[in-house]
Amino acid sequence: MIQSPLLDDSLTTSKTPEFDRDRFDGSVMQTYGRFPIAIDRGEGCRLWDTNGKEYLDFVAGIATCTLGHAHPALIAAVTEQIKKLHHVSNLYYIPEQGELAEWLVNHSCADKVFFCNSGAEANEAAIKLVRKYAYTHLDKVEQPIILTAKASFHGRTLATITATGQEKYQQGFAPLPEGFAYVPYNDITTVENAIADLDEGTLRRVVGIMIEPLQGEGGVRPGDLEYFLRLRKICDENQILLVFDEVQVGIGRSGKLWGYENLGVEPDILTSAKGLAGGIPIGAMLCKDSCAAFEPGNHASTFGGNPFACAAALAVLQTLEQENILHNVQTRGEQLRVRLRAIAKQYPSLFSEVRGWGLINGIELSPDIDLTSIDLVKAAMEEGLLLAPAGPKVLRFVPPLIVSEAEVDEATKILEATISKIAKN
Ligand SMILES: *Cc1c(COP(=O)(O)O)cnc(C)c1O
Repeated sequence: MIQSPLLDDSLTTSKTPEFDRDRFDGSVMQTYGRFPIAIDRGEGCRLWDTNGKEYLDFVAGIATCTLGHAHPALIAAVTEQIKKLHHVSNLYYIPEQGELAEWLVNHSCADKVFFCNSGAEANEAAIKLVRKYAYTHLDKVEQPIILTAKASFHGRTLATITATGQEKYQQGFAPLPEGFAYVPYNDITTVENAIADLDEGTLRRVVGIMIEPLQGEGGVRPGDLEYFLRLRKICDENQILLVFDEVQVGIGRSGKLWGYENLGVEPDILTSAKGLAGGIPIGAMLCKDSCAAFEPGNHASTFGGNPFACAAALAVLQTLEQENILHNVQTRGEQLRVRLRAIAKQYPSLFSEVRGWGLINGIELSPDIDLTSIDLVKAAMEEGLLLAPAGPKVLRFVPPLIVSEAEVDEATKILEATISKIAKN
């Protein structure tokens, strides 16, 4: 039997050496605006910092720790796998990769899977696949364009910051790769116009639309059903590949396994990463056979789909299935939204809207006040609740999918206490 580290006395009783922030900043490149705590260990939906302070974790490594922290199924799977074999390269067949791909194909609209290590990489693979498909299947397209949404987020590589429809991620990194154009989210007329405008003969035309079923970083904005239905139709009529970035909303977070199931339309290509292996790095690009245009040598990744990451993902997915965690996501999500709406109603001058699916939810701060999401994140952290901003005005709630009724209750009570303090000042 594999012992959970939490049953291991040495971990819970040993004193953690004091954390030295200056020393950390002395050598780690400062690309992050970090909150001033260091997390030492976790169990379920709880985290403890290096000073021993306890937090309820409604961030889950940014919608990533699907099964929370130190989950026995994940511990068992990765422990067994690393003892047996952790990495070999895609020079050889990797049985665990095949098993994971089969699970994903059996539980999605896709037929084939490519594995990589992150969301950005999965989106890079999708961008390359769209271009390769246009190159091989669409005659005379010299300038293939991929439409993406404003306020989207697709990653931090050069191609994915360009796909990301937010200038702040692009500034200072010119020249950016060509072949992207932007439209407002949930607005079908602008998509129709963009396709018509760009379609000068067949040389420069839209060949792909890459979009999130629910915009995560852009402020927890769910896709509109009618809009997505029309998008699917436009793509079918114009030989455009529809790509869904499911990096944040996929793997059960929305209350369904995939975000697109909330919209009633299937993509041609979809990408996954964050929650897929519950916090072990992995990314995946899935597509239908009809657009699987890659040939041997077209794309690759050294680590992609290695036995270790695949074993972790299989443990996460099998646990989701066996323990009917999607049902928990739906009921806990509903519970959370009811409570957040009550809070928003109690403080109408502070909050304007509550929105989300399953366990990805946001509360939007009123535009008329100075209070930002970061202010609230800091205040809640003081009270022992971890939350993440989704832009300057939206507070995001993305707990582990195993969160309990009591924990949702506790989190909303902490939030109420935090807000009542702020409202008094
Ligand atoms: C986080 C995120 C990404 C980028 O994932 P990384 O693993 O950080 O590269 C891409 N798309 C969406 C929707 C995301 O939420």
